[in-house]
Amino acid sequence: MKYETVIGLEVHVQLDTNSKAFCGCSTEFGAPANTHTCPVCLGMPGSLPVLNEKFLKHSIRVALAIDCTVANFIKFDRKHYFYPDLPKDYQISQYDKPLASNGYLDINLDGQTKRIRILRAHMEEDAGKLIHTPTASLVDYNRTGTPLLEIVTEPDLSSADETYAYLTQLKSILEYLEVSDCDMEKGSLRCDANVSIRPVGQKELGTKTELKNMNSFKGVRDALNYEIKRQEKQLDSGNPIIQETRLWDEAKQKTFSMRTKEEAHDYRYFPDPDLVPFTVDSLTIENIRKDLPELPQAKKVRLTAEYALSNYDAAVISADKHLGLYFEQAAKQYNNPKHICNWLMGDIMNYLNTNNIPAIKLKDLLPAKKLTAMLELIDQDIISGKIAKKIFPEIIATGKEASAIIKEQNLSQISDTSELESIIRQVIAENDTVVEEFKSGKDKALMFLVGQVMRKTRGKANPQMVNAIIKEQISSS
Ligand code: ADP
Ligand code: MG
Ligand code: ZN
Repeated sequence: MKYETVIGLEVHVQLDTNSKAFCGCSTEFGAPANTHTCPVCLGMPGSLPVLNEKFLKHSIRVALAIDCTVANFIKFDRKHYFYPDLPKDYQISQYDKPLASNGYLDINLDGQTKRIRILRAHMEEDAGKLIHTPTASLVDYNRTGTPLLEIVTEPDLSSADETYAYLTQLKSILEYLEVSDCDMEKGSLRCDANVSIRPVGQKELGTKTELKNMNSFKGVRDALNYEIKRQEKQLDSGNPIIQETRLWDEAKQKTFSMRTKEEAHDYRYFPDPDLVPFTVDSLTIENIRKDLPELPQAKKVRLTAEYALSNYDAAVISADKHLGLYFEQAAKQYNNPKHICNWLMGDIMNYLNTNNIPAIKLKDLLPAKKLTAMLELIDQDIISGKIAKKIFPEIIATGKEASAIIKEQNLSQISDTSELESIIRQVIAENDTVVEEFKSGKDKALMFLVGQVMRKTRGKANPQMVNAIIKEQISSS
């Protein structure tokens, strides 16, 4: 049977605030266990929560950036469940009146744009962390009460790759907004993926499973691909899909059943009587909207218009806020944006990825001015592109200017005609057969001869000149 895949995501974003959602405790990551706690986040009787204003403002910022309608009426509910990482035995969340609803996010995949609808986004607090040792389970309440925004999509995603694109796009927006560090490994961004399959053509949705415990975007993609195959096998062999929560096991590359899914009524939701509902006036919301920065999509469009970048190049450059900033910094000092872009998307990104360096560090490693100075040397034929590729990691490692490295290592390009002519004469003399091949019309032969000259000059010969001189010497011989 042929199936199609349906995926909906619940993404939890930890918002960057100094203090927790409803108390004054610090949200600092990595502090000694249970040092950032107080009667409120520990759920002591008689303590009272107070909403952190920055939590609300950051949440509205995100909601507007993903084109949601922001509710003027703010209300919090208690979601009950019993687990050792939750000292109050309920989580403050929003149930029937979420902060935001009816948004969307456009994703780009294989040159196509697809709109993913966002059902809702609501504010809630995080639980603590359990640490399991061979002899005991320990609990750390430092994270308890940290502000989260949960962003829930409609079941509009149809593949693991689309899901990956959605997460990448969402992360990119959150980074532009400066509301979260989006570090999935630290848990600042967590994603539960709901997935079902149905025979092609069927209208009703299939039974879904909910996947948890993925700690990278790649993990989400792998877990979904695994789970889709598992569901297909299940249906093909005549077994039903059970609605359940399944955990992704990164080491085994498999999902395992954790529990059958609870229903909303199991949570005994009710309005939190300690947090009085209130209204946010539209002016406040509009002021937050005015304050939104340029977002990746808009930046992409601007880069294509202002710098004549291709759609693809502009998308890559604008996807990472810091790469985009770097590009524009460099383009201010040097007027061949395409040349900058090629370097950014080629050797520089390669260098960052290989060394696992985030783009925010680039401006310190290789100030834009140093890059453009090197590009100018290429333009002036002082060095070849090949030499530039070779010395660019050295510029980063030593902090020296390209020109200094070239001088030290005697790398400047040989553009001296007489010097090149004598080397080429030598190469021609040593390669009779290849020269004959070239005369009989084989273009490859020329490439070989150029290669030989490059070898003798350790890559320093000016390739255009080498080409011209070889042709000239052969034709006049
Ligand atoms: P639950 O009550 O189980 O939490 P929700 O209706 O709140 O389910 O939906 C949670 C997420 O699951 C949403 O992102 C939604 O789009 C997605 N979803 C709902 N039904 C399906 C389905 N049959 N297949 C895939 N995803 C689904
Ligand atoms: Mg739900
Ligand atoms: Zn506290």
